[in-house]
Amino acid sequence: GTRIELAGCTKTFPDGTRALLPFDLTINGGETLVLLGPSGCGKTTILRLIAGLEFPDAGGKITFGADDVTSQSIEKRRVGMVFQSYALFPNMTVAENVAYGLKVQKVERRERDERVRAMLEMMHIDMLADRRIDQLSGGQRQRVALARAIALRPRVLLLDEPLTALDAKLRVTLRTEINSLLRKLGITAIYVTHDQEEAMALGDRIVVMQKGAIAQIGTPREIYRAPRSPFVADFVGASNRLDGRIEQNSLVLGDIKIGLEQIGHAVEGGPNGHHDGNTGQGAADVYFRADGLAICTPDQGQMRGRVEAISYLGEKSRLTVSGIGESAITLDVDPDFQIAIGDDIHCRFNPERLTVFGRH
Ligand code: ADP
Ligand code: MG
Repeated sequence: GTRIELAGCTKTFPDGTRALLPFDLTINGGETLVLLGPSGCGKTTILRLIAGLEFPDAGGKITFGADDVTSQSIEKRRVGMVFQSYALFPNMTVAENVAYGLKVQKVERRERDERVRAMLEMMHIDMLADRRIDQLSGGQRQRVALARAIALRPRVLLLDEPLTALDAKLRVTLRTEINSLLRKLGITAIYVTHDQEEAMALGDRIVVMQKGAIAQIGTPREIYRAPRSPFVADFVGASNRLDGRIEQNSLVLGDIKIGLEQIGHAVEGGPNGHHDGNTGQGAADVYFRADGLAICTPDQGQMRGRVEAISYLGEKSRLTVSGIGESAITLDVDPDFQIAIGDDIHCRFNPERLTVFGRH
């Protein structure tokens, strides 16, 4: 796989929209890098810069391996692209669609047929070779789009929310297939999604974006367990938030005190906080997932809450609990645990699973 580098890039559109603030980004050869962030944060714009569909503002530089492609056209760059809408030729067959780019590249007949056959097989659509695109389901079309992109042996594969239009079950199946395919082929790939779970499942590394800027780059585990800012914590699903305080070496939550050395992840202040391990003093935001708080016996309880809602999720039940923070807290229990709406419960924190941002 080819190593891709963007250096000193910004993007301002003619109407004055600053879609991307200054950033550097390297995608290692063979790596799957996921761009994750809310709608409008600039994910597609980064893909379009790499593809050559847009160009960075003056001063930005894009390289593929040793090649400076900054001012190269899309044809010269040899990128493969798969989008949410398939952009296939509707009245051609599956095989003709996959062969099309190879024809344009003047790959000779025999090799072309062989590559098309291998691609269709790899994507499990060989039995659909002679069907027309408008006779296929959404999932089948997306397999064709992938086969077509990969058949060209691109230097980098760009995928922009390719699974967003599909139903939940198919999305999981296809993302698993894409994952093993990318690894098997060793293609450098950049995958855009706003779905946190998809990002975790697919990415060697994840870039979390916020308003045209990179909020954090890290492995799925780093992003999940050690978010750098409240934005990242919130975006990757640490949906519970409490107001706390840092006093001396403790986190104070109401009348509970927890030694900072027990806290899973503590970060110093501000929306772009950094400096691990030094949270300063004063107000703090405390984030945690459903595993940050557990039900316990009254004598071990740190606080009391009341069950407001119960969602049975099969492998677990998720409770909505009031009375602990200003807004409701979610916590998970064993699905067979006997509990009802309106019950009073006692809980205690799992300090390992708390993320604390000093606010000073
Ligand atoms: P995302 O893919 O993360 O949803 P985009 O990269 O599409 O975000 O867009 C980033 C920002 O740039 C948005 O504010 C969007 O409205 C703006 N934008 C995108 N394309 C253009 C354009 N051609 N002209 C002006 N603004 C644009
Ligand atoms: Mg987009």
